Amino acid sequence: MPEALAATRLGVLGWPVAHSRSPQMQNAALASLGLDDWRYQALPVPPELFPQTVRGLRGAGFRGANVTIPHKEAALALADLASERARAIGAANTLSFSADGAIHADNTDAPGFLAALPEIPRPGSRALVLGAGGSARAVVWALVAAGVQVAVWNRTRPRAERLAEELGARVTDDAAEADLLVNCTAVGLASSGGELKDLPVSAEYLSTYATVVDLVYRSTPTLVLAAAARAGCTTVDGAEILVQQGALSLEAWTGLQAPIEVMRAAVRDA
Ligand code: NAP
Repeated sequence: MPEALAATRLGVLGWPVAHSRSPQMQNAALASLGLDDWRYQALPVPPELFPQTVRGLRGAGFRGANVTIPHKEAALALADLASERARAIGAANTLSFSADGAIHADNTDAPGFLAALPEIPRPGSRALVLGAGGSARAVVWALVAAGVQVAVWNRTRPRAERLAEELGARVTDDAAEADLLVNCTAVGLASSGGELKDLPVSAEYLSTYATVVDLVYRSTPTLVLAAAARAGCTTVDGAEILVQQGALSLEAWTGLQAPIEVMRAAVRDA
């Protein structure tokens, strides 16, 4: 296959992945950039087929792929090269395939999260992160790297203890005072259920946080963001984080500046 014809395919690997808005967002961006022969598609792959599928992607014309639940750790494990932040976070959401077959792993969730905030948090400011899963690891790593003092709460405490020890945060059992609150739990995701009472922050107490971020995104405001907006907080929607992490992945694959507004509109309309 001549190189000029190769590697114009992109995708998102997940299981399940049908709910992802990345295909609409990235295809709108590719069209806007005039990359008419590029395509981005959902790639539903069960965990047992993940390594062999990824190794075959370059030969099938793929330049790169995003990775979502449940493959982010496996993606890092099989990469030949990984960025420092992907290694520190312990998970990759972006794979790039070079012509010699090498697989490079990165994590754009962390810088995408920071880019979605109204302003970069000041060193020494405080954040409370709810959750200790994959997205919490990226968020905590990004905040600690920015010099923020991070407290982590999680329903399953030992998981929070591991994360805090590895990434330089502390564990809290309640709603620690902070400037920034970030929900990295699945509470509020329609398919996962959960209610605000499953989290340590009451609707009334939310007003003590200047900015509230919810990683969860859906077409109507999430439980956390609806309550935070009522409490007068500045709110950041998970959809904006999706856009920002996707923009960084797209730029890595194409070398072109991502059309952020086009991507935002595509996510909104998806
Ligand atoms: P994950 O690794 O599966 O972690 C899930 C987290 O949610 C864990 O901390 C879990 O606590 C907690 N949790 C689940 N149900 C709960 C409940 N009823 N009450 C309290 N805690 C609960 O998932 P993830 O990758 O971190 O993703 C978390 C959320 O962020 C998902 O909704 C995902 O869609 C969203 N996300 C959005 C973006 C974006 O670009 N906007 C990127 C990544 C993820 P335990 O440890 O106790 O189980």
